Amino acid sequence: MNTTNTYQVKGMHCASCASNIERTVKKIAGVENISVNNGTENAKITFDSKMTSPEIINQNLEPLGYSLVIQTAEEMGTTIIAHAGHLELNQSKSEKLAEIAVMKKGVFGALPIAGISIFIMAWEILGSYQLVTPMSLTIYEFFHHLLPIFATYIFITIGKPYLLGVYRFFRYGSANMDSLIGLGTSVAFIYSFIVSAFEEVLAPYLSAQYNFYDVTIVVITFIALGKYLEAKSKLKTGDAIEKLLGLQAKTALVIRDGKEIEITIEAVILGDLIVVKPGQKISVDGVVVEGSSYVDESMITGEPVPVEKTINAQVVAGTINTTGTFNFRATKVGSETLLSHIIKMVEEAQGSKAPIQALADKISTVFVPTVLVIAIISFGFWMYFGLPVFGFPKALSFALTSFVGILVIACPCALGLATPTAIIVGVGKGAKEGVLVKDAATLETLHKANVVVVDKTGTITKGKPTITKVQVLGDKNEQEIIGILATLESKSEHPIAYAIVNYAKEKNIALTTPSNFEIVKGKGLKGTIGDTEYFVGNLKIISDLNISYDTQSLEEETKQGRTPVLLATKNTLLGVVFVADPIKPEAIETVKALHKLKKTVVMLTGDNKNTAEYIAKIVGIDQVFAEVMPADKLNIIKDLQAKGNIVVMVGDGINDAPALAQADVGVAMGTGTDVAIESAGITLLGGDISKLVKAVKLSKITMNGIKQNLFWAFLYNIIGIPLAGGLFYPIFGWLLSPVFAGFAMAMSSVSVVSNSLRIKAMKL
Ligand code: ADP
Ligand code: MG
Repeated sequence: MNTTNTYQVKGMHCASCASNIERTVKKIAGVENISVNNGTENAKITFDSKMTSPEIINQNLEPLGYSLVIQTAEEMGTTIIAHAGHLELNQSKSEKLAEIAVMKKGVFGALPIAGISIFIMAWEILGSYQLVTPMSLTIYEFFHHLLPIFATYIFITIGKPYLLGVYRFFRYGSANMDSLIGLGTSVAFIYSFIVSAFEEVLAPYLSAQYNFYDVTIVVITFIALGKYLEAKSKLKTGDAIEKLLGLQAKTALVIRDGKEIEITIEAVILGDLIVVKPGQKISVDGVVVEGSSYVDESMITGEPVPVEKTINAQVVAGTINTTGTFNFRATKVGSETLLSHIIKMVEEAQGSKAPIQALADKISTVFVPTVLVIAIISFGFWMYFGLPVFGFPKALSFALTSFVGILVIACPCALGLATPTAIIVGVGKGAKEGVLVKDAATLETLHKANVVVVDKTGTITKGKPTITKVQVLGDKNEQEIIGILATLESKSEHPIAYAIVNYAKEKNIALTTPSNFEIVKGKGLKGTIGDTEYFVGNLKIISDLNISYDTQSLEEETKQGRTPVLLATKNTLLGVVFVADPIKPEAIETVKALHKLKKTVVMLTGDNKNTAEYIAKIVGIDQVFAEVMPADKLNIIKDLQAKGNIVVMVGDGINDAPALAQADVGVAMGTGTDVAIESAGITLLGGDISKLVKAVKLSKITMNGIKQNLFWAFLYNIIGIPLAGGLFYPIFGWLLSPVFAGFAMAMSSVSVVSNSLRIKAMKL
């Protein structure tokens, strides 16, 4: 049996870490698949539990400097949810914070030393151009003996992770970013140590003047500073989950044995009666049974206006009651609540990989060895060609400068952070706006789509139709017609059914119990009352019965957007009821906005053609497919795709699920049935179609962020490596000092993370 679990990984510091871990773990017998996310620092591993275990995998990783947190992220997820507290998350977060505090202490200890070194370097350089008074010999000698002490301190304290990287490189042959930096700084330090320790002896060959103590100090400090800033801002990219977790109530006021008692939310069980007082948080999902109020659901749906809740209204955990008081019955508790589902979904989406990342991943795999080879070639080049021009000491110093510079500047970090940080921020931002994204791939596809297919009922219209007219055709009167219709419809879930049942209730028409009830897909339903079999539905159901009927008589109503519901026995038509479903006011604006984004909007419905066309015209929809059988909805999507379109399908109901799944991106409306959430790539909470525009914009800005990140990360390396290697020296006299290499390298990751964070503030 294969098991798939997600584990937290400790010790990840850069992009090549992810591919390093993936490569090592894939080699372990019994491991089927592994995907490591650099942004969330999670590993999703599929393995045969008979052949291997997380413990074995961990043993294989430890020599490389990583460890698996054996408690799975999922377990942690459910404990977070099941045990009210944000305890678990805070623990891993406080670990991260402690780690960052240690980094901060190191960096701030090193900064003054780096400052002094830079001051000395600047003085020497400016002095050599006569721009300032050159150092006197005494001062020169003083610094000359001070710098080695500083460098030694920095090299072995702040530089320790990089030295461990070098150790792992020689011990296990696995290199990552830390190994590159460690190798670069070690070479710089050891060379400097040798020339100053054996100054007299080496004087004929090497000059102690060309040492790299200052380089060692500044490079290590800059890189540590960069890592500290990166870790700090990376923490900010993932705060959406934390905010969602913070929405949970800690306690609930339940009525047990007739008494109100306060209990922790994990003690709430299904069916509990819960009291909500003004200003309180709603603890679990449920249905209002008594009282009424307005509830602020903005934290879930992004809608700022509080929603009215009366009897039978649904309330969800994490939302806040305003001024009224009401009681509700718990229908979903613990990990089943909508909030828990949202948290889980956001967590998974943030950890998923976007297809656009594949190239960056591929590059980071070969990056480290390639850079090592380039650095060695560059060293050899400068030794070989530099020797006759500069003489041995200067040529060696040049060769070392380029060697160290290349190792330090070449950083796959920015490359590795480019995609995941933007995805984390984008998905988190979506959650805040009530746009739930299932995975990164969806976010990548959405803005590329050119056709948006919308379901009519519940998407464009409110899905809450009312009866506008009853037409009697046979020998039964209006009252009897409604009685029969409502009796049958009481078994159906279609919005039309609610309209008819409600109408009967209003008119105080009693219902009986039907037998042999059956849904006729895409047409309506049939059932027996007494011993008469009845048929209810659209024209298709009538034509199936071969009842001749002049459809012309329907036109007057259907052309005004009303849906006819026909009632017949096996051979006679008894009557027609017309229902009208009001158009959602935001639908018109949404279609306009979609047109502005250059998307064609297509409506797909099982409803009557005239009715559908009437509504489409008002809303401004480009094309209508009406009277479509449920199975054909899927085929229409397929046809559109076959014509080269990228199709988004927006729907709400269960009968849309296959079409949602077939579309390039399926968008589910409303709080959504579980089925719709499962088959949809995007869920728009609160049933608001205008959020579709936000989703498209979110997709666009997130992808733009990723592209900018990747562009700069690539460009940085494409320019940085040859610059550090001295490729431009023969032409312009440019040879990048490793000090600048260190600075550039530190800034590259910081700028990528900051650019991703910018997405947070953008308007949707
Ligand atoms: P849609 O969700 O687009 O309405 P359906 O396949 O659910 O598509 O239904 C297609 C058509 O069948 C409806 O427009 C309606 O005319 C008819 N129909 C379906 N269910 C019922 C019902 N319970 N009562 C009356 N008519 C129904
Ligand atoms: Mg439907």
